[in-house]
Amino acid sequence: MRSIDNFTFQGAPSRGLSFELLFSALNASVSGIIITDNQQPDNPIIYCNEAFEKISGYTRSEIIGHNCRFLQGKDRAQKARQLIAEAVKNEETCRVEIRNYRKNGDLFWNELFMAPVKDKGGSVTHFIGVQNDITLRKKAELELIEQKAVMEEQVKERTAKLRESEAFLSSIIQTVRESLLVLDPDFKVISANDHFFKTFKVNSQETLGKLLYDLGNGQWNIEKLKELLVKILPTNNPVLDFEVEHEFPHIGKKLMLLNAYRIELEGQYKDRILIAIEDITERREIERRKDDFLSIASHELKTPLTSIKGFMQMLKRLQPSGLPEQYHAIFEKVNLSIDRLNGLITDLLDVSRIQSGNIEIHKDTFNFDKMVMDAVDQMQSLSSSHKIICTGSTGVMVTADEQQLVQVLNNLLANAIKYSPHSSEIFVHISKVSDYVKVSVRDTGVGINLEDQQRVFQRFFRGAEFQKKFAGMGIGLYVCEQIIKNHNGTIWLESEKNHGSTFNFTIPIEP
Ligand code: ADP
Repeated sequence: MRSIDNFTFQGAPSRGLSFELLFSALNASVSGIIITDNQQPDNPIIYCNEAFEKISGYTRSEIIGHNCRFLQGKDRAQKARQLIAEAVKNEETCRVEIRNYRKNGDLFWNELFMAPVKDKGGSVTHFIGVQNDITLRKKAELELIEQKAVMEEQVKERTAKLRESEAFLSSIIQTVRESLLVLDPDFKVISANDHFFKTFKVNSQETLGKLLYDLGNGQWNIEKLKELLVKILPTNNPVLDFEVEHEFPHIGKKLMLLNAYRIELEGQYKDRILIAIEDITERREIERRKDDFLSIASHELKTPLTSIKGFMQMLKRLQPSGLPEQYHAIFEKVNLSIDRLNGLITDLLDVSRIQSGNIEIHKDTFNFDKMVMDAVDQMQSLSSSHKIICTGSTGVMVTADEQQLVQVLNNLLANAIKYSPHSSEIFVHISKVSDYVKVSVRDTGVGINLEDQQRVFQRFFRGAEFQKKFAGMGIGLYVCEQIIKNHNGTIWLESEKNHGSTFNFTIPIEP
């Protein structure tokens, strides 16, 4: 057992414990413990426990008699050493974290608690030092500090980048030729671009911080628009192409197209609404004039064409006998061309009628299957290149505009033939589905790419790839869709490029 050397306690140990027991306790401690004799010169260590030997790497014989400073080696300029010196001088306790060095030179962080031991007269006789190796904790702390520094650096970089992108964004926003507003979740205007101020002839005081619905003379205070805007943040569903026609202050009656989206800029803000407003008054006016022109032009063309057709019939009736065969052939060709021209003009007239909402439906009850078969037969008689194969039946009488449905079928069949120049078959299938009749027209032709599939029903749309190869005006499918819509039905397509297309439509049996 470790002896207490020259160390003598003043008085007996308290609570009836023997010295041996107390020193075994000191040796069992995982903390390094030393005792120094304050009454001897240079305050030498007179006791150390086994844990201290383990922590420091020195043996007892290398420790006893030394002043504690040997543990700091050459690392003398530590603040902790000053604190210890002051505590010794003032005869006080102290707690420091100090860099010490093991016998092999390795640094270890020592958490040292030091307390003076006084005799009966109150003079300090010894100091007791309790030490814990906190190298690991210290290492973790240092790593944390380093990590924090790295993170702070990253945050700085990121913030700088965000600022840059914000500046970049705002320069874009200022230059776009659309009016833009950014709203907070309460629909208050946070920012507006120059184009907005110019278009609406307002300034920032009248705009920023104001509720969207209070701007101007309440032009955006529209129930339907409010309902849509309220849904943007929770659902992320944008408001698309909302038209507002209004007598605006300063700028008069205008037609505005409004689109609104939720925007987020990571780390900066969440849940803002971007509103883009486009003045489409002029564009709509040009469209209207174009439609008017189309309507007038097709009417004007139709009248002389009807006369030409009439004169041709008259000529046929009055033709003298014995004319050469060539004459008849030319006569037929002229007639065919007149019919073709007539068809084109009728299509154009249809478009302008649809545009102006003047297309009328004349409903009748008729045998649906027969109507389809007749239309197919008619088309078959005109086409020698393709065989139209018709399957299925509905067996029902339908109440609808028969003429218009024939027109839909003609358009679909004509397209199927036109856009499948290298195949020889077209398939038509009719069926009754619940209280609807359904028609599918399938070809194995050029097919339609995915992007164009969304647009084929638009007025004047023509697939770019085949514009030059196939004649047409991009009207047929637009007219088909309008007719089917007017019958409360739906028209849609399935198509794969280079493999063909199937156009389907349904209409209710009873209107
Ligand atoms: P048009 O045939 O006069 O161009 P449509 O309105 O009938 O006008 O058709 C619009 C476009 O849709 C066509 O230009 C073509 O690109 C595409 N399309 C229509 N039907 C078919 C089909 N059966 N196969 C492939 N493409 C088609």
